[in-house]
This record gives sequence, C-alpha cells and structure tokens, in this order.
Amino acid sequence: MKRSRGPAGSGATPKRPAPAAVGHWSHGLLQSMRDPEVIVQSDEKVVMIRDKYPKARHHYLIMPEEEIPSLKHLRPSHIPLLQHMLSTARDYVSQLDEPKPEFRYGFHAIPSMQRLHMHVISTDMDSVCLKHKKHWNSFTTEFFMDAESIVTSLEETGRVKLLDKAVCDELMKRPLQCHVCHQGQVNLPKLKSHIKQHFP
Ligand code: AMP
Ligand code: ZN
Repeated sequence: MKRSRGPAGSGATPKRPAPAAVGHWSHGLLQSMRDPEVIVQSDEKVVMIRDKYPKARHHYLIMPEEEIPSLKHLRPSHIPLLQHMLSTARDYVSQLDEPKPEFRYGFHAIPSMQRLHMHVISTDMDSVCLKHKKHWNSFTTEFFMDAESIVTSLEETGRVKLLDKAVCDELMKRPLQCHVCHQGQVNLPKLKSHIKQHFP
C-alpha cells in the first residue's frame, strides 16, 4: 500500500518507531526514514524523504526497507526493487507543480551516509546548501552514478561496476564546470551566478 504526504509534504503518514540506537552522524538517514516530518512517500518496500541539505531546488532520497548497505551489495535479484525505487520517485516528482523540473536519479559512487539511498534531484543545482566544490562535483561528474546504468550493470555482469577510490578523488578535484554548457568557472560563487541563466 502506498502512503503519500503529497508534494507539499502535507497529510498524515503513519508513525513508525525510530531505530533504538542511532548514534553516528552517518546513520542519520535511518532516523530520517522513520520521521513523518521528512517522509514524502512510502510503501512496504521503500521510503522517500526530503534531503536535509538539498543541493538543488528539489532533492529527495529514496531508500529500500531491506537492509542493503551500499551499491556493492546489490545483486541481480535487486533489479525489481531498483526499478520500484525509480518508478516511485518518478511518480512522485511527476505530481510536482508547474513548471515541472527535470530530475536525475542516481547514487554517489562513495556515499557518506549508511543504507543504500538513491538521490532524486532536480537538474538546476541551485541551492544555498551547495557550498563546496565537492558538492558540485559529486552531482555533476561520473561520481554520480545514474540509476539506469546501475540496473544495466547488474543485468550484464551481475554486479555494480564500482569506481576506484583514486578515480573518485580525482573526480572531486576536477575543475569547476557548468553542467549545462560546460563552460569552466573560476570559483563556486561565479558558477552559481552563471547557472542562473540556465535556470532563471
Ligand atoms: P551521499 O551519502 O553522499 O550519497 O549523500 C547523503 C545525502 O544525505 C546528502 O545529500 C545529505 O544532504 C543528506 N543527509 C544527510 N543527513 C541527512 C538526514 N539526517 N536526513 C536527510 N538527509 C540527510
Ligand atoms: Zn552554462
């Protein structure tokens, strides 16, 4: 059964108990996925929440109820679940008000938070929470692994093809570049003012 709070986050969502011991900051999503204030959609298999520090005008995270720690634990048997995560997220964002933003769906190659979580993020990258080059590069380089490509990798090889730590470190250091027109920018404030022309 689908439970929705609606795009504006209104309406009641049945309260489920928070996990008993959630100490370390990296467990924050486990707590948020039980917090009715941040849940926007849920069913027996997945929970979709608002990202606490959104890196774009619209930014959600969708997580499975199944305790899957990370991408490396995914197997072909998880493909229906991944497809369900994608369709739940797409259905949700399709109800957002006009003008309908474009979204990307994917995973960080090396996440900071525990429990597999798929980012559902509008393509504007316009947010006060986007404060560092690492934030920018984590969503605009290959560090952001498209959900469809994860499914393809599982279908073709039975595993998710992960990126090496060294490759990820290089991606994080990559010079700042507009993700729409690819023009290089000297710093984040300049980049942020530049992207306003693409997303007025
Ligand atoms: P990552 O682990 O790098 O894929 O991204 C984790 C995401 O979780 C980031 O976009 C954070 O803004 C977000 N985040 C961190 N803590 C919380 C929290 N307690 N509740 C919801 N979102 C969070
Ligand atoms: Zn541009």
